[in-house]
Amino acid sequence: MGFFDLFKKKQNTQAAAETQVQPDQVPQADGAREEQPQPERRQEELNSGLEKTKSGLFSKLARAVAGRSTIDAEVLDNLEEVLITSDVGVETTVKIIERIEARAARDKYMNAAELQSILRDEIAQLMEESHRTTEHFGLDVEEGVPYVVMVVGVNGAGKTTTIGKLAAQLTRAGLKVYIGAADTFRAAAIDQLAVWAERAGATMIRQEMGSDPASVAFDTLKSAVANKADVVLIDTAGRLHNKIGLMNELTKIRNVMAKVIPSAPQEVMLVLDGSTGQNAFEQARQFTQATQVTSLTITKLDGTAKGGVVIGISDQFRIPVRYIGIGEGIDQLKMFDRREFVRALFGEERK
Ligand code: GDP
Ligand code: GDP
Ligand code: MG
Repeated sequence: MGFFDLFKKKQNTQAAAETQVQPDQVPQADGAREEQPQPERRQEELNSGLEKTKSGLFSKLARAVAGRSTIDAEVLDNLEEVLITSDVGVETTVKIIERIEARAARDKYMNAAELQSILRDEIAQLMEESHRTTEHFGLDVEEGVPYVVMVVGVNGAGKTTTIGKLAAQLTRAGLKVYIGAADTFRAAAIDQLAVWAERAGATMIRQEMGSDPASVAFDTLKSAVANKADVVLIDTAGRLHNKIGLMNELTKIRNVMAKVIPSAPQEVMLVLDGSTGQNAFEQARQFTQATQVTSLTITKLDGTAKGGVVIGISDQFRIPVRYIGIGEGIDQLKMFDRREFVRALFGEERK
């Protein structure tokens, strides 16, 4: 089983235990007790985190179809513009438009609400397809071997924050977490990570500023193995000065880690700043060329209308989106669920 599937299961078991009624409690009338509030609460949090993207999309869509009752060439043009300006990316936009065109040939008459629901269906379908081509995230969990996640991405993408949030969620689920401060370029970066590690109740392994990142990674894995950690998160510096430099550094860190745990890193998570729109695509391109990336986290989707990047990136890169960041708080890192995501942007399916 994949590590994060295991983690999700642990979290769910824990949530169920917390909502369980005491045996001596007076039985309540049907409906008086909340039925599993978890999924609804998750959906609400996601809806509010993606509010800007959603309202942007809505108003643009409304304008695109205003005063029209059929999907003609002009509506399709407008729609294309809506998707492009919502940062879905050209390639994916073209794909979506082709699908809608094919459908429009069948169902001529269409009002705004119908168009929206068709768009919703097509995007949901597209995300379903990119999911199918990605067998799984990272490697399966091996008994007694820490699961190592190397976190990469450009400066400011949200790596350290994501590691902090993730560490907090993992420790809360009862896992022993080690963090390696392998972004050694700035002292402040190490201190920032230390604050998160302490808050999360995780152990951080560090060296002085300027030391070799690979050496920090090595120490972290040694210590994690000796102390029987469940998971290791390795922070890295994301300097994109040039691809060769980046590639060499990441390769060196990987090689050194494999000396301690042959299967490490079981996962390489690329963190992308979703609020940069098209730039996030470019970063994804650079990093996937520099190293093998097995999962994506897209941050800062709150406070931006560029949430469409998630659709385009998961379609184009065929690398599963594992998490999305919708705020700076510990709980504002959400395991990505494409159905919830599409629901947050387009509302419920129409029955
Ligand atoms: P790093 O350089 O990749 O390690 O990036 P940091 O983790 O230091 O994050 C850069 C900035 O982005 C910080 O101010 C974070 O608080 C902020 N940040 C990270 N994730 C999110 C998010 O999901 N939402 C918002 N609003 N801010 C975020
Ligand atoms: P289904 O079989 O199409 O219903 O797929 P599920 O949504 O049940 O996925 C099964 C498991 O695969 C989930 O628990 C995920 O952890 C994992 N998974 C594989 N690909 C993805 C992806 O692209 N995104 C997410 N969030 N999970 C994925
Ligand atoms: Mg950092």
